[in-house]
Amino acid sequence: MMPKWHILASTTLAVVIFTITNSFTAAVACFISGTVIDIDHVFDYYLYCGRLSLDISEISGFYQHYGKVIVVLHSYELLFVAVIVTFIFHVHVLFIGVAIGFVGHMLMDTFAYEMKPQSYFLLYRIRNGFKIEKLCNQKQ
Ligand SMILES: [Zn+2]
Repeated sequence: MMPKWHILASTTLAVVIFTITNSFTAAVACFISGTVIDIDHVFDYYLYCGRLSLDISEISGFYQHYGKVIVVLHSYELLFVAVIVTFIFHVHVLFIGVAIGFVGHMLMDTFAYEMKPQSYFLLYRIRNGFKIEKLCNQKQ
């Protein structure tokens, strides 16, 4: 998904969080967590071609050639940890913001891509060797 959609959704969620909590910290945390998760595509691209790039057109089109989808930060396991940490820290607004931004990002990606829903579990991707043909409903 293009970053502009995550930026738009995260901004909307951040405004809602700010309206409800009156916490600028929670709103900023929501925005950052909802957008920065995609940085793992840069890591995947580095593993594919051995150099870093922030060129969106370059990064979004290489997975078919790479044949793998690693995206370590896109995982329900990390989302679960974020939610648990939120409760451990007595539902601090900072962690609520992080968790909501993370949830928003994962929901958007889950419905936007032709990935099998279980492919968003890092352990599932590891078990299937990160192979795109095992993770997607159809080759992207
Ligand atoms: Zn994403």
